[in-house]
Amino acid sequence: MIFKSINPFTQAVIAEHEVLTNAQLTQKLQLSESAFKNWRTTTFQERADKMKKLADILRANKDELGLLITNEMGKTLSEGIAEVDKSAGNCDFYAENAERMLKDEYYDTPFKSMSVYDPSGAVFAIMPWNYPFWQVLRYAAPAIMGGNVTLLKHAPNVIGCAKAIENAFLEAGFPEGVFQQINIDIPQVESVIASDIVSGITLTGSEMAGSSVAALAGKHIKKSVMELGGSDAFIVLNDADLEKAATVATQSRMLNAGQACICAKRFIVTEKVADEFAALFAQKVSALQQGNPLQSGINMGPLARIDLAEKLSYQLEHSLKQGAKILVGGEREHCNFQPTLIDFVDANNIAFQEETFGPLATIIRAKDENDAIAIANNHRYGLASAIWTEDRENAYKLARKIEAGNVFVNSLVRSDSRIPFGGIKKSGYGRELSEIGIKEFMNMKSVIIE
Ligand code: NDP
Repeated sequence: MIFKSINPFTQAVIAEHEVLTNAQLTQKLQLSESAFKNWRTTTFQERADKMKKLADILRANKDELGLLITNEMGKTLSEGIAEVDKSAGNCDFYAENAERMLKDEYYDTPFKSMSVYDPSGAVFAIMPWNYPFWQVLRYAAPAIMGGNVTLLKHAPNVIGCAKAIENAFLEAGFPEGVFQQINIDIPQVESVIASDIVSGITLTGSEMAGSSVAALAGKHIKKSVMELGGSDAFIVLNDADLEKAATVATQSRMLNAGQACICAKRFIVTEKVADEFAALFAQKVSALQQGNPLQSGINMGPLARIDLAEKLSYQLEHSLKQGAKILVGGEREHCNFQPTLIDFVDANNIAFQEETFGPLATIIRAKDENDAIAIANNHRYGLASAIWTEDRENAYKLARKIEAGNVFVNSLVRSDSRIPFGGIKKSGYGRELSEIGIKEFMNMKSVIIE
């Protein structure tokens, strides 16, 4: 079996990658096991030196790696380069902070008692194509700084990125087997999860993939972290700075051609300011240039795969039939989906109920603040939300009422190495990044000394 990497803008086949045979996969698992025996005994300083080197290599090659991302999944070149930079920053962050985060913790008992953090084995990662570098370095840098090793099953359309990341790890001096990318098909996934060397599973992707992999993790009693879909609410209240809110709304929905779990997807606006906000939002969405992602001045490239573009077209058509009104865009040519804004969406509309993974923004009109919060919470997903209001004290109270893993006030929802990131409800469980993220796959061992 072969994975094909297809440039979504030109439709050219960039590369073909063979899937591992079961015998080859067993060898990779054995290599993981032998690498772990040594890697777990290394000092934080040894790991940090290599992790810093990795960050330097990523930064030194960011133009070339950014181009690889653009060619494989279609984001603009500037977005690809920025992604490599952000990934390098995460390597630096864990190189500098892992030792402090994993220091022994003592308890107030009459005898000596503490928690120590031991590495647990190999973290098996199943990752998507939308941020092919960031999603990988986000979990791999903390896992490896903690003394674990890792196996990556990347999405088939970004295997070139997966190989480039593995090469960068080797060039940085990490021993073979500490970071391995494995080209495997879905039926081979269970054998990896079942393997004794694998201690935990982390998946970023759709709810369906998450549900299937979490079930296998449960079956084999392995810890898992699930970072799944979202339909993030972007709430605009009467006293919001509408101009700024519309600018960030456009950015938040349209970055990465709308293909991010934390893109704002439901713009919930109080009736009093809805017309004004809709006009500003429409103006900004109309100004976006969609086209060749390698060309400067282009804000948005194609969607990453034709099936994703077709699904979004279906959601748009269905949503219009259900009563939504188009304000901007709506056309599609192959993978190129125009930046689109629709208004008068309600909770029964498909564009409200399903995750829309592309440049389709929906406006939902709310009666007042309480109605806006109720609409935001009326959803199966709970990844992130944004609230726009000038009343920051009230914003804190509202943030506490939102059912989501992250709430941003007057700001773009984004992930940050220093802050825990993850969702609730069908958006998944567990946290990535920060101190919490590095501890997810460590064995927190209690040691009591009488
Ligand atoms: P998937 O969730 O199918 O793919 C993400 C990763 O999971 C890929 O590596 C994929 O591998 C793997 N995967 C899928 N099914 C299984 C399974 N049963 N067992 C093990 N691994 C599995 O996403 P798609 O690329 O198909 O996109 C579909 C939708 O998912 C999007 O429209 C969007 O709504 C959502 N999505 C959300 C993301 C997020 O950041 N939260 C990222 C990507 C997608 P393979 O491709 O080989 O099946």
